[in-house]
Amino acid sequence: MDAVVIAGAVRMGNRRAIDVVNAALRRATAVDHLGAFIHLMPEHARQRAMEIDSLVASNRDPGRLAGVPIAIKDNIAHEGHPLMAGSRFLDGNTATHTATALQRLEDQGAIVIGRTNMDEFGMGSSGEHSSWGPTRNPVDPACVPGGSSSGSAAAVAAGVVPIALGSDTGGSVRQPASFCGVVGLKPTYGRISRHGLVAFASSLDQIGPLTRSIRDAAVAVSVMAGVDPLDSTSLQARMVVPDVASPPSLKRLRIGMPRQAWSDSIPVYEPLMKCLHELKSRGAVLVPIDLPILSAALPAYYVLSSAEAASNLARYDGIRLGVRQTRATLEDTITASRTQGFGPEVQRRLLLGTYALSEGLSAQLYSRATAARTAMRETLDRAFSTVDVIATPTAPCGAFHLGTRIEDPAEMYTADIFTIPPSLSGHPALSVPAGMLHGKPIGLQLIGPREDEAAILNLGMVITGR
Ligand code: GLN
Repeated sequence: MDAVVIAGAVRMGNRRAIDVVNAALRRATAVDHLGAFIHLMPEHARQRAMEIDSLVASNRDPGRLAGVPIAIKDNIAHEGHPLMAGSRFLDGNTATHTATALQRLEDQGAIVIGRTNMDEFGMGSSGEHSSWGPTRNPVDPACVPGGSSSGSAAAVAAGVVPIALGSDTGGSVRQPASFCGVVGLKPTYGRISRHGLVAFASSLDQIGPLTRSIRDAAVAVSVMAGVDPLDSTSLQARMVVPDVASPPSLKRLRIGMPRQAWSDSIPVYEPLMKCLHELKSRGAVLVPIDLPILSAALPAYYVLSSAEAASNLARYDGIRLGVRQTRATLEDTITASRTQGFGPEVQRRLLLGTYALSEGLSAQLYSRATAARTAMRETLDRAFSTVDVIATPTAPCGAFHLGTRIEDPAEMYTADIFTIPPSLSGHPALSVPAGMLHGKPIGLQLIGPREDEAAILNLGMVITGR
């Protein structure tokens, strides 16, 4: 059931929050084999549900999301609860504060039932790089659910919760949404405060919702959005809330189709084109556009995100943060802690990031990547003077089998080839379930003008009908 329906029933007193929460917890246990959750919180959730029910009973406002069970990615802080970012290095770590985005959801009556599995520190595209074992795709448990917000996508797709929070640095909300057949939104950079989100690459990280319906994504983002004094990059501008109750007509809506993204050799081409032609028959105009800069996205992203990660993850040393491996000297203690604490993918990124920033090389690598990023931003901004929305596949393929890409990082990285451009440029982007390929869901990515989440949510609403 969608969040807006649950909240409506709880607010009216037609359904008790405790019953909703118990049902979600039962479902989470029933699909335990998916590995979607790292930590379930039955006591916390039941306690919160009883508080909501007593607000309703005493005629006080329980909030727009009253009684809605939610799941949060294990890199989002929740005071007094574990915060491990999918890493054994943070085993036993407890959050000392609550992320602003989560606080805003809780203030509206949402109830956290558990923390979801993820690729360690958000680095991965399949959910297989978690210290707690892989997550499986509810549609086909032999396949990956995508990553890095693997557990959040699986929890929503398996019907445990209607809303789960993920974080998206280069596609980690949208790509698993595509693989699991749910909606995933990465808002404009800065729309949602990053305070309380474990940093991977701060200039790219954004919290975003995974949901079954566009309406739920719209409600979740509008509750979380807004300036936060604790995050200096949070946007001042107010978010325009889309009118998802009555989606607009498509008449003459210009959908930009980058030639570089729509090659008929990619597996998802045909089913996604079918969806786009349907939009065309309902009045939209498909406009071919040229975005040659897209080819620079993947290399620029891996240089920039790894460089920022190398700096952000320096704080995990076994002394200030992280499980300590005590050795005879301070240096050996730090080296042993980091070597044993970080998994192989994180170590790969830290090496790449440190290399990219090293003296003599940073001009070639880091500066060129920054220039590519600026060009990406300018090219996309310019494109929006001739089109209203840009459409690309969310990923070039559907969910792949567990174990098939883990040994080949370069192959794994290609899963994000289309989600990375709007991450680099900061534009909002949405993955909408738009078809099936060999029995697995695939998503269409809609990119909107900066700060215009409404444009993509409205079109998403036309596609999903909910
Ligand atoms: N899959 C990409 C990476 O591994 C994106 C991750 C993310 O968005 N957190 O870096």
